[in-house]
Amino acid sequence: MIDTEVLVIGGGPGGSATALQLARRGHAVTLLDRAEFPREKVCGEGLMPYGVGELRRLGVELIAQVDARPFLGIGYTVGSESAEGRFPSGHHGLGVRRNRLDLALAGFCREAGVDRRHGLKVREVGGWPGRMWADVGGRQIRARAIVGADGMHSVVRKSLGLQRPARGRPRYGLRGHFRLARGARALDLVEVHATDGLELYLTPTGDRELNVAVLLERDATKALKGDVAGGFARILAAYEPLRELLDGAESASEPALCGPLRQEATRAATDGAVLVGDAAGFLDGITGEGMSLTLLSARLAAEALSEGLRTGRLAARHLAAYERRRWRASRDLTWLTEIVLAGIRHRRLARRVVRGLRRHPEIFEQVLAINAGTGRLADVGVRNLLKVLL
Ligand SMILES: Cc1cc2nc3c(=O)[nH]c(=O)nc-3n(C[C@H](O)[C@H](O)[C@H](O)COP(=O)(O)OP(=O)(O)OC[C@H]3O[C@@H](n4cnc5c(N)ncnc54)[C@H](O)[C@@H]3O)c2cc1C
Repeated sequence: MIDTEVLVIGGGPGGSATALQLARRGHAVTLLDRAEFPREKVCGEGLMPYGVGELRRLGVELIAQVDARPFLGIGYTVGSESAEGRFPSGHHGLGVRRNRLDLALAGFCREAGVDRRHGLKVREVGGWPGRMWADVGGRQIRARAIVGADGMHSVVRKSLGLQRPARGRPRYGLRGHFRLARGARALDLVEVHATDGLELYLTPTGDRELNVAVLLERDATKALKGDVAGGFARILAAYEPLRELLDGAESASEPALCGPLRQEATRAATDGAVLVGDAAGFLDGITGEGMSLTLLSARLAAEALSEGLRTGRLAARHLAAYERRRWRASRDLTWLTEIVLAGIRHRRLARRVVRGLRRHPEIFEQVLAINAGTGRLADVGVRNLLKVLL
């Protein structure tokens, strides 16, 4: 007996957006999440214009519905060098607290008829195309197809044998929120500061509310000595350019750590199942593309699965179209992340790039057009990359 047509595992932006679109196409969808909502998620919380566009397609207007804060571009600071770039005119990103965004998406799911259940952890999944199952605390839930949207350390990915061994140096994310003092400088950009072995991200997420995310390597996490809140405070206090902004600020959340960040899947589609969002692979928080890529993959997965459910074609070879479309649509953002990740480890090179971006604002704008979904990496071109470097 089948309990539901599609079982979505994970209720973050990836699972919610996939479930919502499948339900709107008339499919019976059950979504399980191990957490109770609202729940916190370690994230820089800067949704790029590309992702804002994806949410609009879903009919979600964040500023009106979720209390989000627009930002107009990105500023980079490495040592004494800094550069500010703006998104193409008419485009903006949004800083949005994940507890608010993910709760709002849960509400949209319920309105669309998704059977959404929280506080249930999936331990294992398996089955055949059209006859899949998930184990939830010893009870099996059966479905025609499964969507693995259970985040960076996905159980679905591992359970279906799709985990790719870890590559590169492990990096971690640490974040907290602040309520800024009255009169503090207002941010209309996401600011990225690279300093000794770590990067700091400042994203405005509300009225005088600021998300501070830190990306760091394993050695730096050891220096926290198990005291996440104390270590976070020490990192911020040691970075002089932040002092003025945080002067008189109050902590507005419990600082939290997550990682290792880079997680990859061998494939995003297999017999009877697809992986969406971070479950399908997550590189790093460095370019702030995660939620945008997640929403993009949710749309493509919902289209492919809906077709498969309608025609009864749910084998890996049928769902592989999702995999190809996802790769084509996301490769520029993925390569951009790889390029920035490779460069940021070399501080002298990073300083040089920031200086080049300041001298060539037109090239910086071309790079930010990729985040807005209006430009391609190929438009930037090797010639311009050299101009920035030399
Ligand atoms: C430090 C850091 C900074 C980042 N900064 C940004 C940024 O500025 N902008 C941006 O766009 N992205 C950013 N990201 C990436 C972004 O957070 C992710 O890409 C995004 O959350 C992916 O959404 P998701 O729905 O795939 O997964 P998640 O949001 O992680 O949701 C997964 C859900 O699955 C549930 N779950 C997990 N396991 C199980 C299980 N076994 N059974 C049931 N439920 C389960 C979890 O409770 C969770 O609710 C950042 C990430 C990090 C780590």
